[in-house]
Amino acid sequence: MIFDPLELNYSKVRAYLDCPFLYRFIYVERRFAPPTPHSSLGLSVHRALARFHAKPGDLGDLLAYYEDSWLHQGYSKPQETMEFYKRGALVLEKWWAHFQANPAQVLYSERSFEFPFEKWKIKGTIDRVDRLPGGDAELLDYKMGFEDRNDWDVAGSLQLSIYALGVERDFGLKVGSVGYFVLTSLKKYSAPWSPASGEATLALLRETGEKMLMLDMSRKGDCPRCPVRRLCPESTARD
Ligand code: SF4
Repeated sequence: MIFDPLELNYSKVRAYLDCPFLYRFIYVERRFAPPTPHSSLGLSVHRALARFHAKPGDLGDLLAYYEDSWLHQGYSKPQETMEFYKRGALVLEKWWAHFQANPAQVLYSERSFEFPFEKWKIKGTIDRVDRLPGGDAELLDYKMGFEDRNDWDVAGSLQLSIYALGVERDFGLKVGSVGYFVLTSLKKYSAPWSPASGEATLALLRETGEKMLMLDMSRKGDCPRCPVRRLCPESTARD
């Protein structure tokens, strides 16, 4: 894929905000953070859910989608692969039962958006958009929830705010709320969406986009917690 410095998406902006060197490593130099068991499992489960929402069925269908979607990369030995595969299957089984008991009108799943903003092109892919009873849209991002936390900052989420702008500007829907659905706990954390958040998000995109364009590398992120700490030449935590 060709690197377009005027294209902004959440992952790119997040990488720059976390550390300009991480952004340069992944998006400018086109190097990749190696997959981990957790990132690989998360992708497999996301792919299975996207296929299920596109073509709903029973639990057997969902598990067949999971098997087809399974990514083998990131695991160090077959035993680890099997252990994670079973964890993902269990998550999906519980999610399926929950979805049967709490049906939703899913309008879109794994749907890409794109809209222009000044000189920028804002892009993204949304896990799920539902129709709320009042007619507004609710967008949801699936999280595996591996980290033990219950403090999901939905109202302050840059990711959800960019997605809400995408739903409104590209899909032409009015967004009523945004949220995370945490798969391991089957809990939804949602908050009303307000256009004021959209304005603040666009201002942040403009400011960050300009710094990315200039390759402003005047700070470093948290090296010990960085996914590329063993590969990055600027790392202070290579061991
Ligand atoms: S290892 Fe440190 S300097 Fe390198 S990208 Fe990660 S946070 Fe930035």
